[in-house]
Amino acid sequence: MTSTSHKPLDLLIVGAGPAGLSAAIVGARYGLHVLVLDEFPEPGGRMLGQFHEENGGWWVGKREAERLVAECKALGVDICCSLSVYGITRTDRHWIVRTTQGSKSAVNVLIATGAAEIPCPCPGWTLPGVMSIGAAQVMTNVHYVKPGERGLIIGANMLALAIARELAVSGVVLIGIVLPSPGPLAGADASPRQQLKRLLGLASLAPSTLLRIGGKLANSLGLAGVALRLLPRKGLNIWGVPLQLRTAAVSINGEQQVESVTLANLTHDGKMITGSEREVKVDFVALAGGLYPLAELAAVAGCPFDFAVELGGHIPLHDEQMRTPLEGLYVAGNITGIESAQVAMAQGRLAALSICGEMNRLGEYPDKLLQDGLADVRQVRASALIQFQPGISLAREQIYQKFRAFQETRV
Ligand SMILES: Cc1cc2nc3c(=O)[nH]c(=O)nc-3n(C[C@H](O)[C@H](O)[C@H](O)COP(=O)(O)OP(=O)(O)OC[C@H]3O[C@@H](n4cnc5c(N)ncnc54)[C@H](O)[C@@H]3O)c2cc1C
Repeated sequence: MTSTSHKPLDLLIVGAGPAGLSAAIVGARYGLHVLVLDEFPEPGGRMLGQFHEENGGWWVGKREAERLVAECKALGVDICCSLSVYGITRTDRHWIVRTTQGSKSAVNVLIATGAAEIPCPCPGWTLPGVMSIGAAQVMTNVHYVKPGERGLIIGANMLALAIARELAVSGVVLIGIVLPSPGPLAGADASPRQQLKRLLGLASLAPSTLLRIGGKLANSLGLAGVALRLLPRKGLNIWGVPLQLRTAAVSINGEQQVESVTLANLTHDGKMITGSEREVKVDFVALAGGLYPLAELAAVAGCPFDFAVELGGHIPLHDEQMRTPLEGLYVAGNITGIESAQVAMAQGRLAALSICGEMNRLGEYPDKLLQDGLADVRQVRASALIQFQPGISLAREQIYQKFRAFQETRV
């Protein structure tokens, strides 16, 4: 990395995931000098570990990442890995980006740092063999190492379901997906009624026909409470893995490493049923607490924030064109809300179009290109294979309204 004394870059992108790489390609196509930085040793972001069944075939994230990286290289985009960005400050004319290998200046910065996992503590969670669900995904799909032979997932959310499928395909035996034990940390995540409601909200959006049918059936039965009584105690079979919404993990047990878990039955409202405890042998446990946007760098840069449960938590304020209220600072991908890689890619393309528009690089019809970019994001979102929360589009519209209100207060 060179120092800040050189001419500022047109565009510096933090994060070489689907959003960052897609933005780099569009920026470079319109003649911008683009640098992408990432702390992971190879570009691709979370896509490197993903594969999903789609219309009878498989969407393989690693292949998609390779395609994007090859396109970046062909267009002369510089990609620098194994360095972390820890500071972003504004001078009167451009941004200074501080990294573990020196600083860089840029006229525009796009923060595309993705998401992180919410920790889901449980008695025994420090034993070797306990890992986050994302770690199990990386071990299996990025490093091709099985996390164990026989495991359990604690936490029933969209990420847990998607990765359970990937683990099962890789030959790992999963004895089930259960809820965390009730308590202040687990909150609604430990309530069978709340979890069923949440999953039913997703069921109409989910890729699996089984989930879709399950969702429609339960919706037609009316309240989630009715459907809950119909749930078999041994669980619903989802992609060969029992989803046990009326069972909680009480503790993870073992001397030197994971040897077993203690499970117990739950009432509909999430109270543990005394006397129902039993021990089940496993050699690994994956904790699935959900995802939140990794947005600290936007805060460091001085960007205002808003909170939206549907988007995963605290979000840097931005408009539909991916602009923040700070001149030359843009966001794209999961930092703006938890969605799938395809949506992140569309957002990255749109962010780059916005930047090129501000720099007058879009040629004769800039408005048409921006409108096409906006339509692209909406269309990809509407048909996304995996949706993490219901109500995403509405929550996004509210953020855009708040952005407009914020801008009006500054005039
Ligand atoms: C554990 C986990 C598993 C997931 N699994 C799935 C799945 O199976 N299916 C699915 O559809 N979606 C999944 N997602 C959601 C996923 O985040 C999106 O699919 C997509 O990858 C988001 O793209 P992105 O470009 O916004 O971020 P990412 O793909 O997360 O890329 C962000 C990049 O930014 C880099 N970075 C972050 N901070 C810094 C910094 N300070 N300095 C330098 N580099 C930095 C990271 O190393 C990373 O490479 C998962 C997310 C997580 C966290």
